This record gives sequence, structure tokens and C-alpha cells, in this order.
Amino acid sequence: MSRIYDAIILGGGAAGLMCAAVAGQRGRRVLLLDHASEVGKKILISGGGRCNFTNIHTAPDRYLSANPHFAKSALGRYTAQDFLALVERHRIAWHEKTLGQLFCDGSARQIVDMLLDECARGQVEIGTGRSVGEVDHADGRYRAGDAEAPALVIATGGPSIPKMGATGFAYDLARRFGLKIVEPRPALVPLTLPPDQALFRELSGVSTHVIARAGKAAFPEAALFTHRGLSGPAILQISSYWRHGEPIQIDFLPGRPANWLTDAKRTNPRAALRKLLAEALPGRLAETLAEQLALPGDLGNLPDRKLQEAERRLAAWPFLPNGTEGFAKAEVTIGGISTAELSSQTMEARKVPGLYAIGEAVDVTGWLGGYNFQWAWASGWAAAQAL
Ligand SMILES: Cc1cc2nc3c(=O)[nH]c(=O)nc-3n(C[C@H](O)[C@H](O)[C@H](O)COP(=O)(O)OP(=O)(O)OC[C@H]3O[C@@H](n4cnc5c(N)ncnc54)[C@H](O)[C@@H]3O)c2cc1C
Repeated sequence: MSRIYDAIILGGGAAGLMCAAVAGQRGRRVLLLDHASEVGKKILISGGGRCNFTNIHTAPDRYLSANPHFAKSALGRYTAQDFLALVERHRIAWHEKTLGQLFCDGSARQIVDMLLDECARGQVEIGTGRSVGEVDHADGRYRAGDAEAPALVIATGGPSIPKMGATGFAYDLARRFGLKIVEPRPALVPLTLPPDQALFRELSGVSTHVIARAGKAAFPEAALFTHRGLSGPAILQISSYWRHGEPIQIDFLPGRPANWLTDAKRTNPRAALRKLLAEALPGRLAETLAEQLALPGDLGNLPDRKLQEAERRLAAWPFLPNGTEGFAKAEVTIGGISTAELSSQTMEARKVPGLYAIGEAVDVTGWLGGYNFQWAWASGWAAAQAL
């Protein structure tokens, strides 16, 4: 005998927990299944253990997707303020760290407890340690294990950080129902540099404020050199826009006015480029850049043309990454279940009634800084209205 529910939600992460709680509180009988030993594991490790749970600057243009309009409806109906109101109702102390990023003062555990409390209020049944193999859909109803429902929600996330139990299960399941997948790739991930740029790998541990650019995207934040290449918030952000074979550019001295180097030559002709760079940048980085620019001696002895060229290079230093550190280190996955398959109002598959997909499993990926959780909350909430 099957146990009958109104909805089975696969995946007890951010999106699944939100969807379950809201649907449960709307009177639906909800079963939430997760193969992990506990729900919300990524929430627990997020934001360095303090969970960057949303961003007050959430807007659709901070998300990547094959259809940039898709996220508008859900993000507009369940906003960062809505989630913040929930956090405050649960008396969780929070603070804005930087750039609109909201974190718990205490611990990410408070967010998981809050969601579990909301699920309990909605009488959601939670089954952990339950891996779902086949989903049967022979007669229009969904059967997973001994449970049966007219609706199934795919909320099993993306494959980033497999050692935490992340899988590509959402894609396999979606494919079985005939839904298209936009090729998944790691995002918010460190970039690796080839041997001919190994000089920079020797700067491992050095960090500085830059503007990182790829195509039209630009992020003014910190970059960090690592023993494999480049990391830090500016690089993680730009990694989402970077494509294999393309360069990225780093502005090492953001905010400098045009001709600052030739002006420095007039006002300070006896200074060396190396010294000027060391005044603005970490010493080892200044040394490396000066070596690469190969303009020794006093500025006063260098032609303007050479200084202008150096200025241009320092403002758009080209790096040609040879890869990323992969899903093992990626904070999120770009790509996933194609938004063309889903209703942007309800997240229901257009050609498979009763099948929904939410959260990171869908081809919507936010910037670093709380945007990905906000998508998980908003898409989970939108689906819950339709269940
Ligand atoms: C280290 C790290 C830090 C992060 N920090 C932040 C942050 O501070 N702010 C932010 O906005 N975003 C952050 N993110 C991204 C954020 O965690 C994800 O975007 C978000 O968790 C996606 O929610 P989701 O519910 O779609 O998927 P997940 O939270 O990944 O949940 C998916 C769930 O499905 C379960 N599951 C997977 N496969 C199966 C299966 N076959 N059967 C049953 N269950 C399955 C998993 O166990 C998991 O519980 C971070 C990510 C990482 C890796």
C-alpha cells in the first residue's frame, strides 16, 4: 500500500525546505526526502558557517541563465525582504557584511532550525537517509519508494561539492521525463593558470583589491593568488562569466585617473616604477608586475609611450586560465534544467503536469553574496503556491 501525499519533494536543501514548509502551511500533505543523514548540509557550511542567507540588492540582472528573464517572476514575488522578515520572526540576529550581503550573527544552524521549525508548522514529513532511485510515473501519479503523490518537486541541487553528497541526480531525473538540460559547468570557482604564468602562482597567499573583467562583466573586489592560480571574490564572480580559451583582465590599480604614470613622471621623475607600484600593492606582487613590465630606472628616463603602455597593461592585465578547480571546489553549478521547460510562475514543467524543479537544479545561477540562497527561497516559494 502506498502512502498518499499531495506532493513529494526530492532534496532537503535550501529550496526543498522552503517549498515543503510553505506548501505544508498551505495545508498540503508533503513528504520531503533526502539521501543525506541530515537536511540543509550546504546551508550549514555556507558563508563560513554564518550563512550569507540573502542579499538586499537582489535583482534579476545578478543571475545567469540562458533566459535572463526567467527568474524575474519568482524573485519579484518572494523578495530578500520577505526572507529577512522570516529571519526576524524567528529572532535570529543578523548583520550586513558588505555589498548588501546578510549573514547570521550566530551560526548557519539557526537558518536550518528556522526552516525545520517552519516545516514542523506545516506538518511536513521528513525522511533523511533515503536515496531515491526510480520514480514511477506510469498513470500520471508519481511514486517514489512507498510514497505516492500527484506532484513531484525536483530540489536535489547541482553537482558542486560532491563530497557533501551533491549529485547530478536532478539532471538524470529531468532527462527521464524528457526535459532538456543546459550543459552544467562549475561556477563561483577558482581559476587555474598554465605553466607560462607560473610566475604568478609563486605569489600564493597574496591578495589585493582589483577589478576582474571577462567580456562585459566586471567585479571590483579582492583577488587572491593561489598555488594553482587565482581565487578570491572578484575571481569567483568572474569565473561564472569565463569560458575556456578566453582571457580575463585584471585591473590592478582600480580608480587611477588616465595618464597617472606620465603625470608621475613629471612630478616625480626620479622615482622608479617598482617603487610606485610597491606604494599601492603588496610588495611581492609589485615586484612581479615590475619585472614583467621590464621598465627599470627612473621614470624621467622612460619614454611617455612606454609608460602609457604600462598603464594600459596594469589596468587590463591579461590572464589566460587553463581551467577551473572544478565541481570539487565550485560553490555553485551554472546550467541545469532548462528554463524553457518550466513555467516561470510555478516552476512546473510545461509538458509534464505535476513535475516541478526549483533551486540550483534549474538553469539560474546567482552572483556570489547571498543571491543563490535567495533564488532557492524564491523558486521554492513559487512552486509551493502551485502545489
Ligand atoms: C561551500 C559553499 C558555501 C556557500 N555559501 C553560500 C552563501 O553563503 N550564500 C548563498 O547564497 N549561497 C551559498 N552557496 C550556494 C548555495 O549553497 C546553493 O546555491 C544552495 O544550497 C542551493 O539550494 P538547493 O536547495 O537547490 O540545493 P542544495 O542546498 O544543494 O540541496 C540539495 C539537497 O538534495 C539532496 N540530494 C542530492 N541528491 C539527492 C538524491 N539523489 N536523492 C535524495 N536527495 C538528494 C542533497 O543531500 C541536498 O540536501 C554555497 C555553496 C557552497 C558549496
